Amino acid sequence: MKLFDCHCHTDRSACGRVPLEWYHQIATEAPCSFAITDHSAHIYYPPEDKWAFWTDRGQEAYERYKQWGDRQLEQYIADVRAAQRGSMYLGLELDIFLDGTPVCDERYLSEFDVLLGAPHTFPAVENEAPVEQVEAEFKQIIRGLLALEVHVVVHPFRVLVQKGYTVSESLIEWTVDICGEHGVALEINSGYKCYDEDIVMADLAIARGVTLALGTDTHGTDRFGIFTYHYEIADRVGIPAEKLYWQPQVVVAQAAQ
Ligand SMILES: [Zn+2]
Ligand SMILES: [Zn+2]
Repeated sequence: MKLFDCHCHTDRSACGRVPLEWYHQIATEAPCSFAITDHSAHIYYPPEDKWAFWTDRGQEAYERYKQWGDRQLEQYIADVRAAQRGSMYLGLELDIFLDGTPVCDERYLSEFDVLLGAPHTFPAVENEAPVEQVEAEFKQIIRGLLALEVHVVVHPFRVLVQKGYTVSESLIEWTVDICGEHGVALEINSGYKCYDEDIVMADLAIARGVTLALGTDTHGTDRFGIFTYHYEIADRVGIPAEKLYWQPQVVVAQAAQ
């Protein structure tokens, strides 16, 4: 069975450079199955304000753009569905506000084959608050994503590492356990490697029967299908990659082939 990359962007994400058409072209020959997962925070905010979610006016702006964003999301769903062939899945990388509001109308969430939940930003981490406050808000974000029934929590500790926080083993343990309780997978992300945290997370996940998912976070075609890091983690924990990483349960519609 081919490995499944749960995390690929098109140029619909502000930082992505890959046209959807490129994935359509390579889908049947690809060395892996994969999901298209653009950022909900780029679909719902217009190009001239594409980073608003990451600012302190993110929520107010979301309310303002929401109706427009719903149309954009419907178009995204229609376009990816139309481009599907081979083992190509429709996904979304979902953002959330601290109060639990998703950056996507909840009525659409069940339409995705693969729903990723991302802790990209929250006030305490942006304000470089004391670690206790950062951990409390991090947990609130993770609980919010789990309540929305995401399938995978992606790059769980990236934002903490990027902002210079030490990620405690107890926080990793908490994250593994709560994802396990909800039957949600945790991503090993090769886009920005958090090796030490990933090893602790992988060991705990295996010990407790929690699923790991493989993600490249492809933004340019050069990263697509490159699983060196995921094999390295699999070697380190002593489980073959083909057995270690998650496969979605849905069957891709064959109509577009
Ligand atoms: Zn992300
Ligand atoms: Zn991503």
